[in-house]
Amino acid sequence: MPTPPLSDLFINGTWQPASERFDVRDPATDTVLAAVADADVPTGLTAVTAAHDALPAWAATPPRERAEILRRAWEIMTAESAAITRTIVSENGKAWADAAGETAYATEFFRWFSEEAARIAGDFRRAPAGDKTIVLDHRPIGVCVLITPWNFPAAMATRKIAPALAAGCTAILKPASETPLTALLIAGILQRAGVPDGVVNVVTTSRAGELTKAMLADERVHKLSFTGSTAVGRLLLHEAADRIVSASMELGGNAPFLVLEGTDVDTAVEVAMVAKMRNGGAACTAANRFYVHASLAAAFSSALTRALEKIRIGPGSDRVNDLGAMVSTVERDKIADLVRTAEAEGAVVNTAGEAPDRGAFIAPAVLAGVAHGTTITRTEVFGPVAPIVAFEDEADAVRMANDTEYGLISYVVGGTVEDAMRVGRQMDSGMVAINRGVASDPAAPFGGTKQSGLGREGGFHGIHEFLEPQYLAVGL
Ligand code: NAD
Repeated sequence: MPTPPLSDLFINGTWQPASERFDVRDPATDTVLAAVADADVPTGLTAVTAAHDALPAWAATPPRERAEILRRAWEIMTAESAAITRTIVSENGKAWADAAGETAYATEFFRWFSEEAARIAGDFRRAPAGDKTIVLDHRPIGVCVLITPWNFPAAMATRKIAPALAAGCTAILKPASETPLTALLIAGILQRAGVPDGVVNVVTTSRAGELTKAMLADERVHKLSFTGSTAVGRLLLHEAADRIVSASMELGGNAPFLVLEGTDVDTAVEVAMVAKMRNGGAACTAANRFYVHASLAAAFSSALTRALEKIRIGPGSDRVNDLGAMVSTVERDKIADLVRTAEAEGAVVNTAGEAPDRGAFIAPAVLAGVAHGTTITRTEVFGPVAPIVAFEDEADAVRMANDTEYGLISYVVGGTVEDAMRVGRQMDSGMVAINRGVASDPAAPFGGTKQSGLGREGGFHGIHEFLEPQYLAVGL
């Protein structure tokens, strides 16, 4: 295997250069980390050929064997977690602790789906009319195109690769052009774990649109699994429609965070710090808008600002830092623009701490006195900014929380668990975190309602995104 950083295409079990390359940069230092192979459409389609040719043998591989290969991938990735973490930090910019947390979460998908590979259940029953037996089997859906974003370069890849392989599918992964190096490291791990040639291919490109369009138009592709923005997801759904390609979509979020009357402010801030600051706020699950009971709003704002003032901002490579760089200066500037717009729309901005001048850093901010319906409450912030809206009436808070086209996750912190559960059940989102700042777990179904997506990843549901039910009507 070539030595890292791996920068070639991984197709059919071999590392292949390309005639063009694009730079991957470290957003904390603005230095070039690697010049990565830039696949064009014909090269990308050779990955489809590899995945297509590898499909019959992999689909016929006994589930136990597939499980053991995934288990080995879990073992190798666990042993090499420091290298993965270092790569995530360098290309994404996030803090070391965030990257280490991501590595652990990402690795766990291999273990979870190694266990699921051997437990794909079917059904067998007599038809009510008594004329036949209904047998339900599950078949691998086929060749899968997997597209992932830059904010979790390891976890978004393994959350798709592991269930696809467990189900007996083959795959082409197209990682985000900002963060392809982690995906290439994972390809190397899978190869060493014994994944046969062609079963997983990784195609890096700066021409995502052209390449994906060509893959979705190829009749050998049966599945698209996408994680990214709602805008790109919508476009891909249109493209998938032409050939009725099965599509799973993990899209944007705009998570409300409710602090109910009677909640202890310190507890609420502790939960809020996790929900807001994990991954520097660059998470689809990040708390985006805080609805705080009017009796607590001022105390909550100042306690949250104080907590944020304690945060150390700087390169993730220095492990003492809590908040790393944003992925690029473009993303950082979008966040700064949103804060300026919020201020113009009446918010009071309290900036906490100071960001280093060099690199894509931004200091956290608490925005007090925000009105529901203003731009910041309608936009995915994707950074360390906490807008606070005060509410008087719980029913009104629930209405405002659900007043969004997104429905990925909601957070509820309540005086009592009963209060929080009662309000949590009224949230129109695929996930609700009750009295805690993080919900993601490989053993739980992750996904959203409304324009946050279609389908679920992880849990018992994740493998079914890659399986096609087949009903056999057996004459008696
Ligand atoms: P993005 O939509 O810009 O890009 C995601 C992926 O799509 C990248 O690999 C990109 O190269 C590719 N892409 C871009 N344009 C494309 C096109 N025309 N055709 C095919 N592929 C294309 O998203 P991003 O900025 O990388 O990630 C941030 C977004 O991802 C946020 O909206 C966030 O909420 C969302 N996200 C969602 C989840 C989830 O599980 N719901 C998880 C992480 C991130």
